[in-house]
Amino acid sequence: MLNVRRHALAERNYAALLVTVLGPAVVTLLAFVTDNAVIAALLYVLAIAAASSSGGMWYGIAAAALSLVPFDYFFISPENEFGFSTVEDAIAAIVFLAAALTVGGLFDRERRAQRAAEAAAATARRLQQSAEALSSAMTPAEVLDAVLTQSVAAAEARAGLIALLTEDGRNLEILAQRGYSEQRLGDWQRFPLDIDYPLSYAVRTGEAVFIGSAEERIERFPALPEITEPTHALVCLPLVVEGRTIGGLTFSFGSDQVFDDDRRAMKITLARQAAQALERARLYGALSQAEQRMSFLAEASRTLATSLDFEETLQAIPKLAVPRIADWSGVDVLDEDGTIRRVAVAHSDPKKLQRGWEISRRFPTRADETRGVAHVLRTGEAEFFPEFPSELLEQAKARDPEMGAILEELGMHALICVPIRSRDRILGALTLVRAETGRPFTKADFDLSTALADRAGAAAENALLFREAERRGEAARALAYVGDGVFFVDRQSVVRYWNHAARLITGVPLEDAVGHLAIDVVPGWALIEEHVMPVAATASELARATAIPVGAGKEERWLSVVAVELGDGTVFAMRDVTEEHALEQARSDFVATASHELRTPLAAVYGAVKTLRRDDLELDGSIANTFLEMIESETERLTAIVNQILLAGQLESGRVSLVERECDLRALVDGVVSAARMTAPESVDFEVEAANGAVTLHCDEDKLRQVLVNLVENAVKYSPDGGTVTVGLRAEKGRARIEVRDRGLGIPETDHARVFEKFTRLDPGLSRGVGGTGLGLYIARELVERMGGEIEVDSAPGDGSTFVVELPTS
Ligand code: ADP
Repeated sequence: MLNVRRHALAERNYAALLVTVLGPAVVTLLAFVTDNAVIAALLYVLAIAAASSSGGMWYGIAAAALSLVPFDYFFISPENEFGFSTVEDAIAAIVFLAAALTVGGLFDRERRAQRAAEAAAATARRLQQSAEALSSAMTPAEVLDAVLTQSVAAAEARAGLIALLTEDGRNLEILAQRGYSEQRLGDWQRFPLDIDYPLSYAVRTGEAVFIGSAEERIERFPALPEITEPTHALVCLPLVVEGRTIGGLTFSFGSDQVFDDDRRAMKITLARQAAQALERARLYGALSQAEQRMSFLAEASRTLATSLDFEETLQAIPKLAVPRIADWSGVDVLDEDGTIRRVAVAHSDPKKLQRGWEISRRFPTRADETRGVAHVLRTGEAEFFPEFPSELLEQAKARDPEMGAILEELGMHALICVPIRSRDRILGALTLVRAETGRPFTKADFDLSTALADRAGAAAENALLFREAERRGEAARALAYVGDGVFFVDRQSVVRYWNHAARLITGVPLEDAVGHLAIDVVPGWALIEEHVMPVAATASELARATAIPVGAGKEERWLSVVAVELGDGTVFAMRDVTEEHALEQARSDFVATASHELRTPLAAVYGAVKTLRRDDLELDGSIANTFLEMIESETERLTAIVNQILLAGQLESGRVSLVERECDLRALVDGVVSAARMTAPESVDFEVEAANGAVTLHCDEDKLRQVLVNLVENAVKYSPDGGTVTVGLRAEKGRARIEVRDRGLGIPETDHARVFEKFTRLDPGLSRGVGGTGLGLYIARELVERMGGEIEVDSAPGDGSTFVVELPTS
């Protein structure tokens, strides 16, 4: 295009030259037709004007000179003579010159205006082209490419580069370049803002730097070494967006340049466009990065949510962070014993990963370390080293050369360590390291790591809650089906939990209990509140059970209750111990009655012996004999009581063996009745009702006699007002049935089963003066059952009692 213009320029000059020479020549030819000087002068003026207008002022002057000679020669007298001595000559010279100057001046001015317009149009065209190229660039790389391609061409520069301020505002980092040797520029990727380089100066001050030649550059910026091919002119422009300098733009020229105002303005405008395009690209980049971050975090949340296992969740995090954010990533937790445990490490290279684990094992993090993981776990404050400070590495090396060597081997370059939190505590620490990729961490990386750790924290907390819920679920299941009644009463004395056993023990269904005041639904609540002392859940001793009576009279039951204080209320466990309580009661009654039973014959024996031994009393033989008989019978009674106690003990421990043989039941019954008749009060009559025929049994005769003696003695004993005691005897369907019937006190139906239990005495207070150990019927039942039979009672108070013994006959 430049050539075309030059060509056009040359053509125009030839034409002007032709007009300049031919114009005066053609007018001179008129001399052969006329000698009118005025007409000739006018025509010469026209030729001069033509030359001026086609070639400019100098062509006009040349044409004027060429016109003046023939005009003087042919048209000014004396004709055909060149004198240039007349007034006419002078006037002609002035007129010709004036014509040349006037028309030439006009022409030149117009040419200049035209050139300026053309230049302005070209500038505008270039700026528009660069603006167009910039507008379609959407990523920083595209913008830089467009800026540099267009700018380099438009600025007629040999090379160009764009450097942006780093996040900390202290350095300039070259993001793109064109025309420089990559290799030589490599070391200059980053340089400080405060250094005395032209671009640093331009960015620092906001002033454009125009340097016309290498000499000028060396003079103004001696600190700038020759980093690329020899450079002549140099332009460094600040990139400013909305009053904020974001970086700088450099153009290098292969030759010396003069930067007039237009060129300067053009370059400053280019820089402004570039800055805006870069900013737009930055915003676009930030937007797409934000989108990527959001989708990364969404993906991370999805991954983290797939596990409800705490450790598994923590282990998933480093895998998410590598290689998206870092080269290395790890998660550490603080164990209950205060040690720091690494639960996960990730690296994309399996070999390095293995090495990472090795290092973790060999150099476990100590909890008292002042920096890094230990510090984050302790304080919850994140640590961020966009570029790992070399002093720290040096310090580590000095402290432990081996560790230092390993850090060097890893090539740790930048580090982020952020806490993984739940709502109320620090669950772990996420560490991210940039090593071999060598890139520093940015604020955006830090924010992303924090966001990832936050999500991990939420997921881990969910896992913990789930574990807790599961544990509670299991505990609740166990509580629901435990044999003890368990209920929880909150601080407002309202029942909040009521298990199945609580319902069975109290008879109060769940829906009637939960949500109601304990006083309204828990039987014996007033006593429980008064007597049961809750222990703290954290107490080292178990809570003591307290027995509480519930209900009254026959309905009275005993509950053993323990209580544990839980902060927001008290949990109670209760157990129905009515039976145990009754046994306990019977035992103590037994001790009382047995003592009484033993003391009575002992007192009689003692009294008799004392009397017999008195020296002052002369006892005749028969009286002495009566005393001796008394001693004998009371001793028998004592022996019987002691035997009964011993036998009960033997039966309980299973140490009684039966000696079975054939026995005649009728003879046995007759023997028992005649013996009873001997000792029974006179108010009692005896009767034996026996069906005809002998009843033969295969049994332990002594033991069966013991049973029958006890039944008959009881019949006598509990008939204080006398009456007939009948012993019935019958054999049917392979069974022998013995009935002992009296007309005595009788037994309430509710006590029918109980009388056969150990120590049970229906009248332990001896209100009818009848003594006993409460063991007789227990022994009777045990023996009968051992002989393969059954014993039961049919009775009602006031109607007497019938005890029935059934035994197999064969
Ligand atoms: P003991 O007679 O030594 O008290 P037992 O085991 O023989 O012990 O009897 C238990 C309880 O059963 C007695 O205390 C009494 O209250 C009741 N009992 C037993 N036999 C009769 C009976 N024939 N009539 C009324 N009550 C009886």
